[in-house]
Amino acid sequence: MNMKLSRETLLPPPLPKAFVKALKRIVGKEQVFTSGPEMVAYSFDATKLASWPQAVVIPTEQSQVAPVVRLCNQHMVHLIPRGEGTGFTGGTVPVTGGVVLVLNELNAISFKPGPPPYIEAEVGAVTTRIQDLAGENGYFYPPDPASQKYSTIGGNVAVGAGGPHCLKYGTTRDYVLGLDLVLPDGEEVSVNRNDERRDLLELLIGSEGTLGVIVRVRLRLVPEPPHTASMMVAFKDNISAIRGVSRVVADGLIPSKLEFIDNQCLKAIGGYMESPLPTEGAVILMEEDGSPEDVDFTLKRAAELARKEGAVDILISEDEETKDLLWEARNAISPSLSRYGPTKINEDVCVPIDHMAEVMDKIEGIAHKRGVFVANFGHAGDGNIHVNFIGDARRPKEIAEIEKAVEEVFALVLSVNGTITGEHGEAITKQSFLPDEVSPLAYSLFKRIKNSLDGEGMFNPGKIFPLENPPA
Ligand SMILES: Cc1cc2nc3c(=O)[nH]c(=O)nc-3n(C[C@H](O)[C@H](O)[C@H](O)COP(=O)(O)OP(=O)(O)OC[C@H]3O[C@@H](n4cnc5c(N)ncnc54)[C@H](O)[C@@H]3O)c2cc1C
Repeated sequence: MNMKLSRETLLPPPLPKAFVKALKRIVGKEQVFTSGPEMVAYSFDATKLASWPQAVVIPTEQSQVAPVVRLCNQHMVHLIPRGEGTGFTGGTVPVTGGVVLVLNELNAISFKPGPPPYIEAEVGAVTTRIQDLAGENGYFYPPDPASQKYSTIGGNVAVGAGGPHCLKYGTTRDYVLGLDLVLPDGEEVSVNRNDERRDLLELLIGSEGTLGVIVRVRLRLVPEPPHTASMMVAFKDNISAIRGVSRVVADGLIPSKLEFIDNQCLKAIGGYMESPLPTEGAVILMEEDGSPEDVDFTLKRAAELARKEGAVDILISEDEETKDLLWEARNAISPSLSRYGPTKINEDVCVPIDHMAEVMDKIEGIAHKRGVFVANFGHAGDGNIHVNFIGDARRPKEIAEIEKAVEEVFALVLSVNGTITGEHGEAITKQSFLPDEVSPLAYSLFKRIKNSLDGEGMFNPGKIFPLENPPA
């Protein structure tokens, strides 16, 4: 983790005038920034870690990307691909300066009837536009990160984003049929799941902008489910709710969404928006889709199991308005938590489902021991827990305790064969823990793959792997 990255550092040296001029020739002079508000706006992501870029470049046409990459390569200027900067691990923070390549103006999307039907999208398209276009054509695009109204599909693919639907439907990774990529040397390649290069596709999804710029993606769709219903189950405390989740999954039920929300999150949501959720205790929020009979069976069975774990209130809803309110409340957790403090360290650990209650209990114990605030929620149906330590960066002692608490949480998660990242990636904040999770051989293989595609380390330096020579 590096909590110290901020803009309170000297500006990096300006880029050579001839280089900036060449950038302007490619994308137009109004799309290149070397001073002004854009330098601040594109210096940070949702972690609030920050570092000054040397230039911000915003292409308006896909064909401009490869020439920008080639130019950066020729001049040995670092390049950082960026979608909407909602990442939670510092992936778009320009730690060595360089060019931040903002891709959100490349956002054309189209539905292709197939067969099979799919959506082709430029990478700057916001996730909800993909979902809406699928729906307009009678199909369903399930990946649904809580940031879906803001995040780009390129960012989703680059980190392999998940969301509540991942329990039943899988994550973004499972929906990428193909992508077009500009490699670090400026070469352009198209990789598709149904050709002999499909293993390469697996490698590129989740590579966090370290292996090239993704410019276009092709996304699988599934039939729209005929019916959905949601269920809110309230418990008196966090551990009973987590046991409720484990019990539902252990029974073999795979609802389309199965989320856990703890007492601190409920309080935060209550203070942030009108919602049908209680403001104390803990909640599991479920959705099931399919035929009306199947939906009815799953929710009734889950309710029965939840009651055995002490559920105190159950609300089943089929009307659109209440369903929307329930899931809007779920998606509001992250922003609502800011009421507890300005600095939020959000870790997306994932553990085997039979260890969830024990891990949750120990996480609360770690926070208590270190005197720091924690709030937990997440896609608990597949073991994913978002552990949010909240404090104030202006209180260094508190932040030091949070950093130690995070280390203890990661050690705990790895001790039960979990993972330190279920969906956010490693980028900056988790890179130092990666060697604890993977074997030395796997770690060195990852590095060799990076070196073979980007030997000079020009692409998104300091992400996943530490900088060889970090600035003093
Ligand atoms: C309120 C909130 C809720 C969230 N909920 C979820 C959630 O439920 N599930 C989840 O998985 N995440 C979640 N996130 C994290 C984040 O939204 C996702 O990681 C999202 O996929 C990032 O998309 P972005 O466009 O903002 O990418 P950015 O933050 O701009 O970039 C993320 C990474 O991808 C790389 N990248 C971006 N575009 C490209 C490209 N075209 N080519 C190559 N590399 C690229 C960047 O270099 C960086 O390393 C949440 C974030 C917030 C703020």
